[in-house]
Amino acid sequence: MTVSIWQADGTQPVREVDFLVVGAGIAGCASALFASQAGRDVVVTDARDIALGASGRNAGFMITGLADYYHKGIEQFGHAAARELWALSIKTHDYWRAWAREAGGVHMDQRGSMLLAESLEEAKELELAARALNADGIEAIYHAADPLKRGYFAAVEQPWDGSVQPVELAQAVLRLSGAEFIANNEAYKVEQISAELVAVHTRKVIFHARYVMLCTNAYSFTLHPYFRGMVIPQRAQVMVTEPLPDSVIPVCGYSDYGYMYYRMTHDNRLLIGGGRHKFFEQEADTTDDRVTDGVQGYLDGYMRRFFPEVNARVDRRWAGTMGFSADGVPLVGTLPDSPRIGFAVGFTGHGLAFAAGTAERAVDHLLYGTHPGALWAGRLTR
Ligand SMILES: Cc1cc2nc3c(=O)[nH]c(=O)nc-3n(C[C@H](O)[C@H](O)[C@H](O)COP(=O)(O)OP(=O)(O)OC[C@H]3O[C@@H](n4cnc5c(N)ncnc54)[C@H](O)[C@@H]3O)c2cc1C
Repeated sequence: MTVSIWQADGTQPVREVDFLVVGAGIAGCASALFASQAGRDVVVTDARDIALGASGRNAGFMITGLADYYHKGIEQFGHAAARELWALSIKTHDYWRAWAREAGGVHMDQRGSMLLAESLEEAKELELAARALNADGIEAIYHAADPLKRGYFAAVEQPWDGSVQPVELAQAVLRLSGAEFIANNEAYKVEQISAELVAVHTRKVIFHARYVMLCTNAYSFTLHPYFRGMVIPQRAQVMVTEPLPDSVIPVCGYSDYGYMYYRMTHDNRLLIGGGRHKFFEQEADTTDDRVTDGVQGYLDGYMRRFFPEVNARVDRRWAGTMGFSADGVPLVGTLPDSPRIGFAVGFTGHGLAFAAGTAERAVDHLLYGTHPGALWAGRLTR
């Protein structure tokens, strides 16, 4: 997003704040909560409103871990980092559950995940994933046949996973933070102006903040060039049916290496998402939230193939923009030469798996200089 000179000509009022969070998705709301628990006086601002980005458009799956299977994560990042990220993901889910309980009013469940193979080759990968998890003492149950009896080749069951109504979650976390929220207020320039002060130019106000946390995920590159090539926008699409008379699937299902996903919503609709792997070029590097015939047609076809008994109207189709980090792991750090401007971005389609734990490390890094471990963004620029 950009701001024209007519919308803000630099004469906006200056406002002193202690801790400013830019972006009111789940990462921004969680950052606000951790900052406020650390005793800071927090203001959150967003170009639009709370959870109008990916956080309010996602499919609500609380699956543990990275986008790729566990053994692949070990190959890519090393055993210690894969373990650390898995633990961070569990911690994130623990935070969501605790906050949802404390705040109330959030539809959340723990019905478990089933990762399903659409081919024999994928079945082998799933077996390797389960073995690697079990070797690290993590409960994951490998099924050599399809437990759902819907034509898959094998499955891995993760009984502790679940799902959530994501807008309710973001609202609950912001509420718990006690932070002031200013909506409809794009930030268009951010710069550290002295050792202890950051200026954030927004459409309504020029903030002078002691600390700033950028939680602008896929849109980060529009605010600061540092993020170009570090966080890449990717579109994801979803559809939901009208409410069904009965549940057709008791768990959260994933197939085709996680590119396809489905579940029942709390009001008994069948939600199906994914399909971007069939249209990679079209779905990559865009912040356009429109649905496309190609992907939506693929979702329709998936429903016909794996849920032939469902003969229901599709009530809603939508899209949203995810921020993929260059290596698939979230990014925590401060901007170059700006130790008071922190960020927590790059959730790679797994914000519900990582945003709370990432926000905690980002706030600690910004306030106390604590090393963010495997999330340290410097790994990409070294
Ligand atoms: C269709 C879809 C399905 C998904 N399904 C899942 C799922 O099932 N499970 C899962 O874990 N993840 C899923 N994801 C990914 C998940 O939604 C994200 O990882 C997560 O929401 C990221 O949260 P965030 O707060 O970092 O970003 P966002 O929610 O995108 O928040 C960023 C905020 O920053 C604001 N902003 C941007 N630029 C500016 C600016 N210049 N000034 C002020 N404000 C600004 C935006 O308006 C926005 O509100 C899905 C995503 C999509 C799109």
